[in-house]
Amino acid sequence: MSVATRHIPFLDLAAQYKTLQPEIDAAIAGVIEKSAYISGPAVEAFERDFAAYCDARHHVAVGSGTDALHLALLALGVGPGDEVITQANTFIATLEAIAYTGAHIVLVDVAPPYYDIDIQAVSAAISPRTKVIIPVHLYGHPAPLDALRSLAARYGIAILDDAAQAHGARYRGRRIGSDGLAAFSYYPSKNLGAYGEGGGVTTNDDVLAQNMRRLRDHGGSVRYVHDTLGYNYRMDGIQGAVLRVKLRYLDRWNAQRRSLAATYDGLLGSWPRPAVSPDVEHVYHIYPVFVHNRELVIENLREAGVSTGIHYPIPAHLQKAFEHLGYSAGAFPNAEQLANEELSLPIYPELEEDSCDYVVAALRCAAELAA
Ligand SMILES: *Cc1c(COP(=O)(O)O)cnc(C)c1O
Repeated sequence: MSVATRHIPFLDLAAQYKTLQPEIDAAIAGVIEKSAYISGPAVEAFERDFAAYCDARHHVAVGSGTDALHLALLALGVGPGDEVITQANTFIATLEAIAYTGAHIVLVDVAPPYYDIDIQAVSAAISPRTKVIIPVHLYGHPAPLDALRSLAARYGIAILDDAAQAHGARYRGRRIGSDGLAAFSYYPSKNLGAYGEGGGVTTNDDVLAQNMRRLRDHGGSVRYVHDTLGYNYRMDGIQGAVLRVKLRYLDRWNAQRRSLAATYDGLLGSWPRPAVSPDVEHVYHIYPVFVHNRELVIENLREAGVSTGIHYPIPAHLQKAFEHLGYSAGAFPNAEQLANEELSLPIYPELEEDSCDYVVAALRCAAELAA
């Protein structure tokens, strides 16, 4: 491959900060002036703003997306003896949160053409012990929630959305997080990212929200009175202040991601990749394509100045940490296809539209050289 003429990072958080610097700096200074480092008014204001954004009654802010998943499962009463169903193709935190409760993890495959949780497989995996189903709105593409909800309702099972990659996405016009329980991550690289760790759970259920507020703060609602075993899952004041500023830009940023994705779509034509359901408004946390000889393609792209990612190289069922679940290679062919062939192209609001032309030209060249 020829010498790189451009450098296109996978993500550019410094560029985004430059566009917001005065507002962000003032918001952070406000927290420091009040010494409101843990929880406090900035976090409460962000909780209200994000609840309103999602059309949800409550948004309980916590320390990370992993905390959010764990707290939501605890609030649903999940524990030893219960089963929780989720997909094999996800970030490991989805499984960790289930494991923390002592419940048994039941994995299912994803299904083409959208590569979201396989409804038939979920239906076949339901047992009398199933308490929760966790669909993951992976890459920012919502899972088929209506089919999942009607299946779950038939058996009295709860749905917890892993919405860590889907801030602002919609399913059949409804915002992710507007129904049931949804866990969000505000990890810095997410579509709505803090300047450190952060997470939150949305719900319309007053009792669940109250339980989660108690559990995230050492199991009490009055200082030094502890009713149950709790956790330190609180959000930092600075993160609340940063997220509240950034939330005002989220719709604009997601629209820019969609516009870049449309440009990629046009340039890529019939290049193999997961399809987009007509039921969803995708927020393109990730723009995935399929490639063969991926390591070589990545190396060739790197030489052309294009950074890419893989989400994720090892599916959850083949991770050593979860080998005790007893799944082996071949158990979930679609999740394994993603693990072997998925390549994530650069996509973020600050990426120039004309960079897409360069990325796709470099990808075609890189794939040809790797063939
Ligand atoms: C990022 C992510 C999480 C975990 O969020 P943290 O804030 O990093 O704890 C969980 N699930 C998915 C699908 C994610 O992408």
